[in-house]
Amino acid sequence: MIQTAQARIGELRIPLVEGVAALGLTLPESAIDKLLQYLDLLVTWNSAYNLSGISDPREMLDRHLLDSLSILPSIDGKRVLDIGTGAGLPGLPLAVCLPEREFHLLDGNGKKMRFLFQVKTQLRLPNVVLVHGRAEDVAEEPLFDTVLSRAVGSLGELLRLGGRLLAPDGRFLAMKSAPADSELAEVKPPYTVLSITELSVPGATTPRHLVCLGRTPGQDGTTA
Ligand code: SAM
Repeated sequence: MIQTAQARIGELRIPLVEGVAALGLTLPESAIDKLLQYLDLLVTWNSAYNLSGISDPREMLDRHLLDSLSILPSIDGKRVLDIGTGAGLPGLPLAVCLPEREFHLLDGNGKKMRFLFQVKTQLRLPNVVLVHGRAEDVAEEPLFDTVLSRAVGSLGELLRLGGRLLAPDGRFLAMKSAPADSELAEVKPPYTVLSITELSVPGATTPRHLVCLGRTPGQDGTTA
C-alpha cells in the first residue's frame, strides 16, 4: 500500500513528543501540531527547492527540529535574529514554541525565503519576520537581544556578519559540532566567549555544542 507523505508525518508525532520530553521541554499540543506541519512542508518542498541534504522525515525530525529546539532555554529577550536561517533552522521551530518573542529569519537565498513565506502563512506565525538579504548589508533597528546561527560560518565570520546587529547586552548563540581552539581564538575584543555548553540532542550522531558570545564587559560602552 502506498503511504501518503501526510500519513508518514503523522507517524512522527510520538517520536516528536518523546524527543521534546527528552530535551526537558513541555510544549502545548498546538505547538506540536505546527512543528509537524512545518516538517510536512519541509519534506514536500525539499526536492524542488533543495532545502536540506537530509530527505528522510525521521532524520529531519532529529537533525533539524530537535537540534533546533535544544537551544530553546538559551533564548533571551524579545528580539531574536537567525543569520543564514536557510529553511528556517534553528529559528522557525523556536518561533513556533516561543510565540511571545519576535524571530527575524535572515537569508540571502530567495528560494528559501519563498519557502519560509509559505510556512509563515500556512502556520499563521505573526511573530516571524522574514528578512531577505545578505547579513553584511542588513541594517535592522533596534538591535537584537539574541542572535543565532547554525551551519553558516566560523565564529569569526559570524561576528563579522552579525556582531554589529547584537544589542550591547545581547548574546550571540552559535550552534557547532565541536568548536576547535583555533576557531575560538577568532573571537576577539570587543567580543568574548561567555560559555560553551554541550547539547544533548536525542538521536544526534555527532557532538553538539552551543557557543555563547557576548561583548567584553566594559567595552563598547556596555556593562562593566
Ligand atoms: N541555518 C540553516 C541550517 O542550519 O540548516 C542553513 C545552513 S546553510 C548551510 C547556510 C545558509 O546561510 C544558506 O541558506 C545561505 O544562503 C545562508 N548565508 C550564507 N552566508 C550568508 C550571508 N552573508 N547573508 C545571508 N545569508 C547567508
